[in-house]
Amino acid sequence: MRSCEVLIVGGGPAGSSAAWRLKRAGAEVLLLDRERFPRLKLCAGWITPEVVRELEMDLDSYPHRLLTFPRLRVHYGRLSLPVPCVQHSIRRFEFDAWLLERSGVTVEQHNVREILADGDGFIVDGEYRCRYLIGAGGTRCPVYRSLFKEANPRAHELQIVTLEHEIEYAWEDPDCHLWFCDEGLPGYSWYVPKESGWLNVGIGGFAGRIKDAGQDIKTHWAHFAEKLGGGLTRGADYDPTGYSYYLRGRVDVVRRDNAFITGDAAGLASRDLGEGIGPAIRSGLRAAETILTGAPYQLDDVTGMSVSSIARSMLTRAARPFGPYGRTPHGLRHDNQ
Ligand SMILES: Cc1cc2nc3c(=O)[nH]c(=O)nc-3n(C[C@H](O)[C@H](O)[C@H](O)COP(=O)(O)OP(=O)(O)OC[C@H]3O[C@@H](n4cnc5c(N)ncnc54)[C@H](O)[C@@H]3O)c2cc1C
Repeated sequence: MRSCEVLIVGGGPAGSSAAWRLKRAGAEVLLLDRERFPRLKLCAGWITPEVVRELEMDLDSYPHRLLTFPRLRVHYGRLSLPVPCVQHSIRRFEFDAWLLERSGVTVEQHNVREILADGDGFIVDGEYRCRYLIGAGGTRCPVYRSLFKEANPRAHELQIVTLEHEIEYAWEDPDCHLWFCDEGLPGYSWYVPKESGWLNVGIGGFAGRIKDAGQDIKTHWAHFAEKLGGGLTRGADYDPTGYSYYLRGRVDVVRRDNAFITGDAAGLASRDLGEGIGPAIRSGLRAAETILTGAPYQLDDVTGMSVSSIARSMLTRAARPFGPYGRTPHGLRHDNQ
């Protein structure tokens, strides 16, 4: 049986951030993920300046695609509003693999199924023994399922259903667009350009409300694709994939003995925009900090609402109206209006 001090299940932003922090402090860490990285993760790939700061990222030396938006274009019915703020886009395929590699920990491809308590530690699948266990396996995390599900049952009214597609596409509009409640969708749809001709488009809404209204996410997609095809993305061909996750609700128990849950495993994505990368990173860092220092593991101030972080970003943008904020697209300039 393999033994380690800290075992992390899941190598997404939550797991790799915890791994990065622990490894820097000299902890002995093993990370298991059922996928081989780089792996596909359905996500618009929009990240905030807080994420950049917490990860201590140097935007100039980030080796993959990263695009900076000096505003968001927000649409509601016929209303269209530029919101001046600083946000970025990355491709999760690249970003997650980069974060995991940067952490410097040993990573094994292994699909975790069974977790048993063993004294003050745990045994995983009869193959791994650890003192500390971090559940960072996303919505279907086996650590959540085995140790936290009863204490924190998923709130079905907070379940989000999504459809999205990331494609190579020579987009012309470099802004990030968000359409709220389009055609009665209880949620929003997005157009998120990536550096060097990649684009992510998608829709997401409350699963229960869509069902109660007798609607179907696929019908909403058809409407959205038609709208894009008639404007922003003429000629693009979409074949979207679906995924479901949970927004931030009550999370009563985030630690049991030496086991922690983080990120989507704990259901931490922001209530208003479903932003989950930042909360995953922050919770991963907090879990690591608790293991290293014994500080309480608390997630009360992990972003519940994205609007507050956007407001902070608007203030930064107002203080520095002409940038630079990060990377603008090759050959294109934002006009700062
Ligand atoms: C369509 C869509 C768009 C989104 N857009 C954004 C956005 O633009 N910005 C944003 O901030 N958030 C966005 N989110 C939310 C964001 O993607 C998640 O909140 C974030 O990925 C959570 O990170 P995590 O590390 O907790 O989990 P994940 O990124 O899901 O990582 C979990 C890892 O655990 C592994 N794993 C799972 N089960 C096991 C197992 N049994 N054994 C071993 N390994 C396992 C998986 O392979 C995976 O690598 C979006 C979500 C969706 C669905």
